[in-house]
Amino acid sequence: MLTGAGISAESGVPTFRGDEGLWKRHRPEKLATPEAFRRNPRLVWEWYRYRQALVEKTRPNDAHRALARLEEGREGFLLVTQNIDGHHERAGSRKVVELHGNLFRARCDECGERRSMRGETASTTIPRCARGHEMRPDVVWFGEALPVPALEEAWKGATQSDLFLVIGTSAQVHPAASLPLAAKESGSRVVEVNTAETVLTDVADLVLRGRAAKIVPLIARVEKGA
Ligand code: NAD
Repeated sequence: MLTGAGISAESGVPTFRGDEGLWKRHRPEKLATPEAFRRNPRLVWEWYRYRQALVEKTRPNDAHRALARLEEGREGFLLVTQNIDGHHERAGSRKVVELHGNLFRARCDECGERRSMRGETASTTIPRCARGHEMRPDVVWFGEALPVPALEEAWKGATQSDLFLVIGTSAQVHPAASLPLAAKESGSRVVEVNTAETVLTDVADLVLRGRAAKIVPLIARVEKGA
């Protein structure tokens, strides 16, 4: 299964180009890069803390919760997400691969230390690891490769699946968008849940057109025989 920004839309998680698009006149594409962080780590952290604060005001919705229920008792279940908001885990999902990282985690590129940033949105300092190095947001930035272990696990899950749900993603950001295609080529059935047509619509075996928070709970109910 692959989820994207659309599953969190009904939680009120803002998109890059929503209200915050004009954040202090900086474009996200110019802030979410390794170069921006090297140039001005304080500014980049200020922007990420602003985004943390926005997401902290939101809650997982019925679609996140239904996926957590769907996982119960299913050994081979794997949820791959492009979202960085952490809502799947907050809703109770356990086997989650966060392809693009997590907004609420910091990482040290020198020693690899990772740390939760929950509850630190008011801080104005650059977080440091135990050895004193500056830490960065643990997210994948423009121009960066995805973490190999996460991608491998996602790829394995997709190619071994017999049913692959694609929920709330425009399927335009690769390599995540290749996962449903890989699943399909390996013999899996692909089901798309989306409010709009996407590049995957013609590939999908079944298209469920509508809001994730309405449709995903229905899928979970049918699957659970409720
Ligand atoms: P996208 O914005 O490109 O596409 C969102 C898709 O969701 C669209 O196809 C839209 O039709 C659909 N959609 C909107 N509302 C929906 C709803 N209520 N129910 C079902 N579908 C709905 O998002 P993407 O494909 O995830 O790619 C954007 C990139 O931006 C990703 O890399 C992601 O990491 C990042 N991002 C993450 C978040 C987050 O963490 N919540 C938010 C914005 C962007």
